Amino acid sequence: MKDTTETREIGHYIAGQVVSPDGEKTQAVYCPATGEHTGNVSLATSQTVDRAVAAAKAAFPSWQNTPPIRRARLMNEFLRLVRENKDVLARAITLEHGKVFTDAQGEVERGIDIIEFACGIPQLLKGDYTEQVSTGMDNWTTRQALGVVAGITPFNFPVMVPMWMFPVAIAAGNTFILKPSPTDPSASLLYADLMKQAGFPDGVFNVVQGDKVAVDALLENDDVKAVSFVGSTPIANYIYETGARHGKRVQALGGAKNHMLVMPDADLEKTADALIGAAFGSAGERCMAISVALLVGDVADKLMPVLKARSQALKIKNGLELDAEMGPIVTAAARDRIAGYIDTGVAEGAELVVDGRGFSVEGHEIGFWLGGTLFDNVTPDMKIYREEIFGPVLSCVRVKDFAQGIQLINDHEFGNGVSLFTRDGNVAREFGKQVQVGMVGVNVPIPVPMAWHGFGGWKKSLFGDMHAYGEEGVRFYTKQKSIMQRWPESIEKGAEFVMPTAK
Ligand code: NAD
Repeated sequence: MKDTTETREIGHYIAGQVVSPDGEKTQAVYCPATGEHTGNVSLATSQTVDRAVAAAKAAFPSWQNTPPIRRARLMNEFLRLVRENKDVLARAITLEHGKVFTDAQGEVERGIDIIEFACGIPQLLKGDYTEQVSTGMDNWTTRQALGVVAGITPFNFPVMVPMWMFPVAIAAGNTFILKPSPTDPSASLLYADLMKQAGFPDGVFNVVQGDKVAVDALLENDDVKAVSFVGSTPIANYIYETGARHGKRVQALGGAKNHMLVMPDADLEKTADALIGAAFGSAGERCMAISVALLVGDVADKLMPVLKARSQALKIKNGLELDAEMGPIVTAAARDRIAGYIDTGVAEGAELVVDGRGFSVEGHEIGFWLGGTLFDNVTPDMKIYREEIFGPVLSCVRVKDFAQGIQLINDHEFGNGVSLFTRDGNVAREFGKQVQVGMVGVNVPIPVPMAWHGFGGWKKSLFGDMHAYGEEGVRFYTKQKSIMQRWPESIEKGAEFVMPTAK
């Protein structure tokens, strides 16, 4: 990896200021396409985290007391600024994550969807009301903010995944601390600045950069009332258990191994397009990427040659080039881990149809490159079938019928996303009913739910009860209160010793 002399210092954002406390450790940040060392990100100590929590706690009372319509107006202004700066954010993503610029623009767009949803917060917080639950007595429910809440996010969507969380949490009246991935931290400071420009009071939105030390400090701080996490399954499990032990509300979204079941009646060309895009888009570093194709009956013999040709024809380049279809892998370590899985697949006896190992791009030889990789005749006992690879590797499994396909999907430990390609409505209906997965697509390869529907997997892909964003997001970031009320005119005299009932 090449070291350049011009590296940027990437600090925290606390109470409206960018801060890099003296003596804090830092971690190097790289451009995956060129391999250049482009920055150093601060790694928060527990003291820095406590400082951020104190700032968020101080901002909470008046923020919670701000009328929802005024909170929504600030969110509308933030929405305008994010739209205006969409390409600035997308470029920041490409430079540190590596995904192609057009895909990064799509990521920002899906973040914008959630901000738009959060702008409707007055309607979303509207409670219910029953007049006359008893004579002269009314009862209503309201939802109130929790206080300081935190979000811990992965490297693969440095803009969209934080935006699954903070616009909804903040619009609902909470103050927020984001702990982004240290691999691609720069975007977080860009939207922190946009939050300030939009007029959010200092302390409402804060960013602490860091690693496990920062995460543990958030989990152990009593003033943090809820934690949203998105990342790999072992860490999701750890966050869920540790957060619960410290009395917090937790939603922890984990890893995935998403299957596409291809029926013999599926449109061959369109299915191949869908598989290639969903397996190799963002170099397979999406929790909704398709990493397994279950090919039913004779469809395998027809589809494999098409998949082979398209995998070999992928345009893999620096993501800033506008015709790039796939960029580099996020880090050298991730590239080596994925290449290790390809070695394992070969050793396990899978048929390596297209080999991405050893791929490089002229002029960018130090970048973290890997070509699209295609395996045929993968079997369910293989490690490359069971484990999440999180890279541009598509494993094809031949199955005899629909029932065998759905059994495999339901037996897998992950249950994030799944897709079915068919022309048969009844098969599609049965699939929707039977499949044990949280997000299902029929002729849709990556069924990421829209902002008002909520995102979440099943099984080892989600720990906790509520999905991210949508109405479940609003419920996660608020607690329900029931108020019963009557006035002296309707209170009967005399103490009551029996369970009150409607009169
Ligand atoms: P990761 O689990 O390594 O990191 C996620 C976050 O946890 C980061 O902020 C990281 O700094 C922190 N972290 C890492 N190790 C930790 C530890 N030991 N203790 C406490 N905190 C720790 O995940 P990643 O590599 O950044 O992202 C890729 C993973 O995220 C994949 O498994 C992918 O499937 C998953 N993901 C899931 C979803 C979803 O919605 N289910 C969405 C995006 C990504």
